[in-house]
Order: sequence, then structure tokens, then C-alpha cells
Amino acid sequence: MLLYNSLTRRRDEFIPNVPGKVSMYTCGPTVYHYAHIGNLRSYIMEDILEKYLRYAGYDVTRVMNITDVGHLTSDADTGEDKMLKGAKREKKTVMEIAKYYTDAFFADCAKLNIKTPDVVAPATGCIDEFIHVIEGLLEKGFAYEAGGNIYFDTSKLKQYYVFNDFREEDLEVGVCEGVEEDGNKRNKADFVLWFTKSKFDDQELKWDSPWGVGYPGWHIECSCISMKHLGETLDIHCGGIDNAFPHHTNEIAQSEAYLGHKWCNYWFHVHHLNTNSGKMSKSSGEFLTVSLLESKGYNPLVYRFFCLQSHYRKSLVFSYENLDNAAVAYKKLVARILTLLKSEQGEIDPAAFEERKAAFCAALDNDMNTSLGVTALYDVLKANTTPATKLALIADFDRVLGLDLIKEAELLKKAEEEAANAPLSDDPVIRRIEELIRERAEAKKAKNYARADEIRQTLLAEGVTLIDTPQGTQYKMQ
Ligand code: AMP
Ligand code: ZN
Repeated sequence: MLLYNSLTRRRDEFIPNVPGKVSMYTCGPTVYHYAHIGNLRSYIMEDILEKYLRYAGYDVTRVMNITDVGHLTSDADTGEDKMLKGAKREKKTVMEIAKYYTDAFFADCAKLNIKTPDVVAPATGCIDEFIHVIEGLLEKGFAYEAGGNIYFDTSKLKQYYVFNDFREEDLEVGVCEGVEEDGNKRNKADFVLWFTKSKFDDQELKWDSPWGVGYPGWHIECSCISMKHLGETLDIHCGGIDNAFPHHTNEIAQSEAYLGHKWCNYWFHVHHLNTNSGKMSKSSGEFLTVSLLESKGYNPLVYRFFCLQSHYRKSLVFSYENLDNAAVAYKKLVARILTLLKSEQGEIDPAAFEERKAAFCAALDNDMNTSLGVTALYDVLKANTTPATKLALIADFDRVLGLDLIKEAELLKKAEEEAANAPLSDDPVIRRIEELIRERAEAKKAKNYARADEIRQTLLAEGVTLIDTPQGTQYKMQ
């Protein structure tokens, strides 16, 4: 399996540290607001990666943090704690906000068929581990105290900028975005491990530490939570591309300085979902959430389908027009599966099954090419094989794609059957039309197309047009 690795900047053969086992870490949400569908694009693509690894036979352990403290509004360690900002906005406590938006995040994930990771760890539950690692970094000379805070000293590293896809001048957090510089830092790229001298006195969550009462920096959370649950080496670390710098760069710096060896082998970065007017954000433009899409009548799985149709390493533009196209394609796909469910199944053909499965795996083995994976699914529908083989393949691929295709088709089938058995109208004119529609459905089932056609023509002559839909036959009177 080839996977693009941001560390080597090429597609590498994926080889886990322990054969057959994969340790996977994902940067979780900062729970100060709802996740927007851009955030959820990252989680959908990471979910596909996890599901494909399991499908390929690996025993995966996946860990995700919940950032409920320490993530400031600017990556340069300035600004306000995002959680505190959320709490002020809603006049609640930080922990109330954290609980509410953590639950909301997992409710959105469930609607998008994103599996909950094996371990979900809120940062506020790991304070002792953060302190322990920071003590280790101080002992080894990789950290220093200045102005009451503890900083990581990036000048002590042989190499700090690891993801060199970026220009170095863009990486200088102290300079970019015109943010105010922290005068305590010895080097521009240094970052806070522990804040004691908070800029804001109303910081709600504070803990005792050897350096005074304070709270952790955001970057240390992910390193420590990963090490706590997955040990000293990590196979895959995931996140959105905006996290590559400074967050992931700092994670590598502090983890490897602390451990004294290489920490994580593969870095999987999902590129952004943008709107026509640029980067999606929670503060500007329409705040696009799963609930908003639902309120506009979209099935959340249509959004998942939309994401799967493009590669995770390309930025993707969201528009309602693009989503509508995905909705139409999804509906057609389900209708075709419904036709398969209603046809004579036949036997599963093992050779055809293996051939199609190999095409699907080839797509995903090639750096998670989900759009080619979807093409492999369409090829199954077109294939010259039995409905039983096709349905078995669709169910198999959907273990990875997570589109509930057969479930949706079965729901349609049930709705159709219920409609077919619903009581007939009391109005004799309508009752006759309904009876003829049922007779026509039976005739079609018995392959008596002549009779089915005759019924259509009879009704048409009387001014009644029949319309066949995936939900059954409907009629229109002139
Ligand atoms: P946050 O809740 O801000 O910590 O972000 C959660 C995840 O969403 C991180 O992995 C981010 O890198 C990712 N992310 C943020 N904005 C976008 C976007 N527009 N498209 C895709 N992923 C994003
Ligand atoms: Zn992280």
C-alpha cells in the first residue's frame, strides 16, 4: 500500500512498526464550537484510511484527543484560549462548553458514518502526563523558563522545519499574520509548553505544576496523549494540512527531543475544503455544519459521498451546486442497487468477486484514491455478473466507503412494499387507478410486459399518466 508521507514528500510503501498492527493518532477537535464541514472533511478521509487499513487486515488502534484547553486563537502562542472565548460567547463554563461541543462533534460523526476512535482523550484528563514530559524536556536542556512560562528551545535541534513543502519565511509564526511577538522567546520558532504567566487572568482551567499554577500549550497535548496510549513509536499521525505547521512540527520537535529517537513514521495530511470565497472558517461567511445541510434537506451521507469523489491531497471547493450533483448521483446509485435487490439474485461468482475486489484495492492502495474506488463501485454495477455477486461486492466496498448503500436501498424497498400494501382509496375512480397500478406491478414482476404496457396505455387514454420512481409508481391526472 502506497501512502503519501508529508515527512518524505513522496508516496511511501506503508510498513508498520509491528507487522499486522497499526498505531494511528488523530488531532481531535477544539470543542469551542460546532465542527464545520471542512473540519469534517478531514475526519471523513481519516476514517476511510482507518477503515481501509482494517479492511486490508491490519489490527488498528486509533487514538484521538479532544482539545479542551490550551489552543489559543493565534498559533504564535498569543491571543485568547479558544475554549474561554466560546464560554464567554455562550455565558457558560469551559467544561459545559467542552461537553456540549464534544457531544455535538460525535453526533455529527455518527451521521457521517465516521467511526469513534478506540481511545478518545480530553486534554484536561492528561495534565500529569504533560507535566512529566515537560520536566523531562527541561532536564534534557530542550526547554527553558522565561517570564513565568516554559518554552521549547528550537535552537537545540539539528533540524526543526521538517515539512519542507513550505517556504521557511512562511513558517516564522512570530512574523506571519502580523501577530504580536512574545518577547520571552529566545528564538522566533520557540513555543510554549506550559503557561503560568497567563495574559488573561480569567483563564478558568488552571492546574498546579512545578512552575506554578498554569495550563498546558496545545502542541504538548497531542505528543503526550499519543505516547500515553500508543507508546514511543507511532505509525501514522493524521490531521488537516493547516496543522502541519506549527502544530505537527512542534509535536515532532518535542516528542523526539524527549524520546531521543524518531517518533512517527507517516504523516497523513488532508487538504482543505474551501468555499468559492476562500478558506472555510467558523467566523466568516455561512457557518456550514452538518445540521445546516440537514435543515436544507441533504442526507449527511451525500456530503460523505461528495468528499470521496475527490482526492484527500487536493483542496476541494464546496458549493451547493456540487453538493446537488453528489445528491443526484447518490440517489441514482441507491436506485440501481434497489433494482438489484428486486431481481433474481443467482449465485455469487467467486472469480468475478475477486477480480472486482482487486480493482477496488488497487485504487485505495494507490495513496487512498477514493474517487477511483467509487469508479470501481460503478464498474461493479455495469459488470456482466449476477446480482448476488454485485450486492456482495457493494456490501464489501461499503465497509470502507461507509455510504450505507444497501441499507438505503433496503429502506426504499420497504417503503415501496408498504405503499403496495397500503389500503386503497374509497373514491371509486382513484381506487380503480390504484388497482391497475398494482396489477401492472404484478405483471412486470411476472415479465408480462404486454399487459403492463396495456395498463399504461389504457390509463393514458383516460388522461392518467404513470410515472415510475424508485419509491414506486405514481400517477398524474390531467
Ligand atoms: P480544530 O477543531 O480547529 O482543531 O480542527 C479540527 C481539524 O480540522 C484539524 O485536523 C484541522 O486541520 C482540520 N481543518 C480545519 N479547517 C479545515 C478545512 N477548511 N478543511 C479541512 N480540514 C480542516
Ligand atoms: Zn494535535
